[in-house]
Amino acid sequence: MGVSIFASIRFVLIVGSVMSSVSLADLAFGVRTTPHSSYRSELPERFYGACPVVSAVMDEYIGPIVWPIRHPSGDVSEFELYYTERETNEGRERFIVATQGNLTDPVLLRVESSCVFGHILDGAKCDCGDQLRAALQRIHGHGSGMLIYALDEDARGHGVRAHFEMYVLRQHHEMDTEEVHKELELPVDARTYSYVGSITDHFNISEVVLMTNSPKRIEKLEDQGITVADRRPLEATVTQHNEQLLRAEKRELGYETGYHDHEHWIDRLRSKDVSGGKFLIVESYRESVAAGQLDELTAEALPVGDMFLVLYATQRPDIGTLDELRRAGLDKVVVLDSGECADLKTAEEEAELEVEHYEVR
Ligand SMILES: [Zn+2]
Repeated sequence: MGVSIFASIRFVLIVGSVMSSVSLADLAFGVRTTPHSSYRSELPERFYGACPVVSAVMDEYIGPIVWPIRHPSGDVSEFELYYTERETNEGRERFIVATQGNLTDPVLLRVESSCVFGHILDGAKCDCGDQLRAALQRIHGHGSGMLIYALDEDARGHGVRAHFEMYVLRQHHEMDTEEVHKELELPVDARTYSYVGSITDHFNISEVVLMTNSPKRIEKLEDQGITVADRRPLEATVTQHNEQLLRAEKRELGYETGYHDHEHWIDRLRSKDVSGGKFLIVESYRESVAAGQLDELTAEALPVGDMFLVLYATQRPDIGTLDELRRAGLDKVVVLDSGECADLKTAEEEAELEVEHYEVR
């Protein structure tokens, strides 16, 4: 399998202008630093999506300790923290439970998987840090609730090592989520959340309002007899750093979020009668604003003649996207908030579609 994947990567490296900075030497180096064959045989069964067998139930809770937590609003509020763990056939799994107020049903709940990049390093590429802070802030605002932090669930349950390996494949070999997991022979999501029922039982909780973007997570909890009365989304602001990941989660994992990728807007363009019309696309990282305004816009509302405006709030368009937009009937793309972007300049030069930059006030 590895041979065919790397053969196709070599092809992309040769033809892809964006990737021209990645040399074949880098590729070879990447292969050497990712010793798949040597560790694959050591992977425990859970890496193939098997449910862990719990050998010791969670009956010990160390706590509570009272801990003040800072919120994005600037408020500081006290939470009660507990530590608990369980033994499974795959080793020890560790959890922190943070609670606030009276835990009467339905309890506002967030189940947070650890993320070295987002939580410890405050990295901007994923939304984990934003989600953790938003969840704690909401519990604080609500006056009660619970956050379960699974300390060993980096990279959707695969661990810190796999998290690094995945980003080697993403960054050096331009693989998407599906290709990365195929290459590493890992399920896209190994988390079972099977610990949640044990923890909610311990705190006499049977009904929750779950803060999540993932419908699958609701199913996992309901499978354990927990009633999920409602779902509250936790959407981070789209930025130039996290946009790829946010849209990949929606596309590849079925997360229910408002984030759209290029295809969504191209389909919208195609669905309209575009004959003779002029179209304008604006790139903005403030997608929530863009998505809300799209349906309200009319030709009369637009600043430039009879141009139709599509607020284009996703990734910077690459050459393929610009070509698709041209074929869909677009005459021009206007990019907002783009900043410095060498990739876009290359795409502009090659595309037969006018790209205009727009200063944000
Ligand atoms: Zn993360």
